[in-house]
Amino acid sequence: MDSLKNMDMMKLMEDCRTQEECRAILEELRWKDGVRCPRCGSEKVSRIRKRFQYDCDSCRYQFSVTSGTIFHDSHLPLPKWFAAVFLMCEAKKGMSALQIKRTLHTGYQTAWYLCHRIRAAMMEDAQKKLGGTVEIEETYVGGKARRWRPRSQKSAVIGIRQRNGDLRMIHAEDTKSETVREIIKANVGGHVEVIMTDESAIYPWALDKIEKKKHQTICHAKEYVAGDVHTNTVESAFSLLKRGIVGTWHKVSAKHLAAYLDEMCFRFNNRKNPYLFRDTLVKLIQTPNLEYKELTAQQAEPAA
Ligand SMILES: [Zn+2]
Repeated sequence: MDSLKNMDMMKLMEDCRTQEECRAILEELRWKDGVRCPRCGSEKVSRIRKRFQYDCDSCRYQFSVTSGTIFHDSHLPLPKWFAAVFLMCEAKKGMSALQIKRTLHTGYQTAWYLCHRIRAAMMEDAQKKLGGTVEIEETYVGGKARRWRPRSQKSAVIGIRQRNGDLRMIHAEDTKSETVREIIKANVGGHVEVIMTDESAIYPWALDKIEKKKHQTICHAKEYVAGDVHTNTVESAFSLLKRGIVGTWHKVSAKHLAAYLDEMCFRFNNRKNPYLFRDTLVKLIQTPNLEYKELTAQQAEPAA
């Protein structure tokens, strides 16, 4: 849908103003080749105009374009959904539920739930492994910014960035070599040419034999760049993350950290994608509903 290319605020206000306009956009994105019953796949469906619903002639299932998607059962008008998606695609450092609440005039709980559902859809599935020149770094987030906290109370994040390519940020249980090795294995492919890290003791143990031959380190105590050897591109992603956590989200609980990291990476990796808004909407209609109680389920681990 070309009208959704390079979405900006003015276009959003003109083209996604009403429930009907938004619904029509979703219908086109979900059913490019005609409406299908989400339950049995039949194409024989009749439209129930009054309720914006469809009735399957084969299995009698009544559905709408939002049935079975993350929009399902939401009482929030679609234009507000669209505006929230737009804002979350645009905000480099992320949008807090509080900002969404104020901007869209919703209750706080509604805004919070809305942000989490959009974030869930932003998760990248089936990611290809990184190659070429890859930088790996670890950082620690969480805890109150103004007070020094021991690292054990903070959450570890491993950042892996392919130069001129994609970024991954993973919430690591700890920074033991075995843990980091698993993360590297899952994200860095055999086609990697160079692996750059600082002189942290983690990496020599976390890399396998072949990877070790490709390993170059920069001694951060002495210098940050030595020729081509640096981890600056992953560092800059970390600084965006930290500004996001301090400035926008204030406190990210350990439970939701992975989702925030995915959101940041998704936005970062799509920074040149003119169809980011459209693609996010597509992900929303492909993602099954996320229950509020699932999000708020108590976890034993302490908040970071
Ligand atoms: Zn059916």
